Amino acid sequence: MSDWVKKLIGMQECFNCNKYITKKQVYSVDVDTQDGPLHLKLCQDCSGDFDDMMKDLEENLNAQRNNTF
Ligand SMILES: [Zn+2]
Repeated sequence: MSDWVKKLIGMQECFNCNKYITKKQVYSVDVDTQDGPLHLKLCQDCSGDFDDMMKDLEENLNAQRNNTF
């Protein structure tokens, strides 16, 4: 399938691996960053990794905050 056909039938692109996924398979993730809220779309495969990624990130941020105090 070409890209425009995928867009036409409402397929979404995974933020992490750029794989095309149907709306039913999309994992929507809202992330608060310093630049403002981010709304990411992930496929099922990446959503698991992403949870771990976010946990690490939060722990790092918390550690940084604790160090400054
Ligand atoms: Zn993915």
